[in-house]
Amino acid sequence: MFENWISLGYLLSASLFIFGLKNLGHPKTAPRGNLLGASGMAVAIITTILEMNLVGEGIIGWELIISGLLIGSIIGYIMAIRVEMTGMPELVALFNGFGGAASALVALSESWRYIYESNNVPTGLDLTVIYIAAGLSALVGWMTLTGSILAMYKLKGGVTVFGKWFRTPTWGPSWLNSIKIIFFFSILVLIYLSLNDPTNATFLWAIIIISCILGLLLVLPIGGADMPVVVSLLNSLSGIAAAFTGFIISNSVLIVAGSLVGASGLILTFIMCKAMNRSLIDVLFKSFGSSEKEVLTRTKVGADSEEVAMMIDGAQKVIIIPGYGMAVSQCQHQVKEFADLLKQKFDTEVKFAIHPVAGRMPGHMNVLLAEANVPYEQLIEMEEINQEFSECDMAVIIGANDTCNPAARSGEGPLAGMPIIDADKARSVVIIKRSLSVGYAGVDNDLFYEDKTMMLFGDGKVMMNSLNSAIKEI
Ligand code: NDP
Repeated sequence: MFENWISLGYLLSASLFIFGLKNLGHPKTAPRGNLLGASGMAVAIITTILEMNLVGEGIIGWELIISGLLIGSIIGYIMAIRVEMTGMPELVALFNGFGGAASALVALSESWRYIYESNNVPTGLDLTVIYIAAGLSALVGWMTLTGSILAMYKLKGGVTVFGKWFRTPTWGPSWLNSIKIIFFFSILVLIYLSLNDPTNATFLWAIIIISCILGLLLVLPIGGADMPVVVSLLNSLSGIAAAFTGFIISNSVLIVAGSLVGASGLILTFIMCKAMNRSLIDVLFKSFGSSEKEVLTRTKVGADSEEVAMMIDGAQKVIIIPGYGMAVSQCQHQVKEFADLLKQKFDTEVKFAIHPVAGRMPGHMNVLLAEANVPYEQLIEMEEINQEFSECDMAVIIGANDTCNPAARSGEGPLAGMPIIDADKARSVVIIKRSLSVGYAGVDNDLFYEDKTMMLFGDGKVMMNSLNSAIKEI
């Protein structure tokens, strides 16, 4: 009888995950999606505990379960409360790593039972399924852990903890690809050998060590504009590791949840690849651009807020292009005030151009602008808004650089082929940033030096406040 209730619990939890994912698809419904996903996880945990207690062999360590839940919840709560919006991508990368590690540790504990305690070592088909799943879970899980930690340090701006040698964001000679392929196939061979000698611990530890190194080698050569793809790929891998672990411990909800994370992460990965005009194979195996930032030789005299306000007075259509600098200066509320002022004072048509990889994580700009109550209808995706620049009087770029750098159209350099916001096609351009310095990909931006471009040098929040005051005085 209990079995039926347990199955119902898992079904409810899987349904909550699916509806949660569906709701995450739109900024308006995303908070509900998050809540549904979290409720699904709570139902899954309760059902698993009940299953172990009522149907399985019983629970011998309640104190371990409760302290694990408490410690995990407290750490998760503190991290989520304290994280700055600019630190979200690093946090996501770290959580991906923890997800992979959790799955790999469960797989390890099962393998440990068989190897060190010779406890019910499976035979026949069971042996094949469990050992292949355990090997693949270890491969994907440990690789995700080390790869994610390295991705987190790269997103922080350099692997300084490992010293000078690793400080450059990209490092990867072409022979590294051969090593990655050899490592990958050697793990498959080790899994095959473990099937013939299931109590030999050497295979298990060799798989773990090689997987950890493989994770580092996979992320090490990737840098610049390819980083978001890696983070979402690692997210997908953490789900795949969970699904493999679900097979080992025969837990259906883990298989469902893992597959959902794996599939949605993979879809996001391909959307990101498309946004950057790079194939996944290129991202993973071709060393990206150069690790050196371009040396700047040109100069440009800055404008002031009053000058820009006078220009805006005559504009009928203004498109605002936010980027990473808006997140750093946290000026989204001032940007919203700016858009409102234009509408109220000059009846200007105002829209926001959203590049899919603006900022440091997918949806970064949408989240910030939603927080400032900018209506979703004003946020226009890149493909759609690009058609409107020819009739736009002024493009106002706030802390964006790579995502509107015309160098991407040249076919050369780290940004080659990446689709950009066509801000340079507007009649005039205003750029708010602190200096002429390069963006994430390290490439100088011709747009800064064009005659129709006015540079407002300064911190995003300070300059937006000053621009808003100048507009109010007109
Ligand atoms: P960029 O990183 O290209 O440029 C941001 C600009 O913001 C800098 O040039 C900087 O110039 C300026 N800036 C920094 N701080 C401030 C501040 N306080 N006030 C005003 N300006 C500031 O940003 P984009 O959004 O255009 O492009 C994102 C890049 O990041 C892309 O290359 C993308 O591939 C990559 N990326 C994206 C991820 C994602 O998922 N979205 C994840 C990881 C990387 P200055 O120093 O002169 O002020």
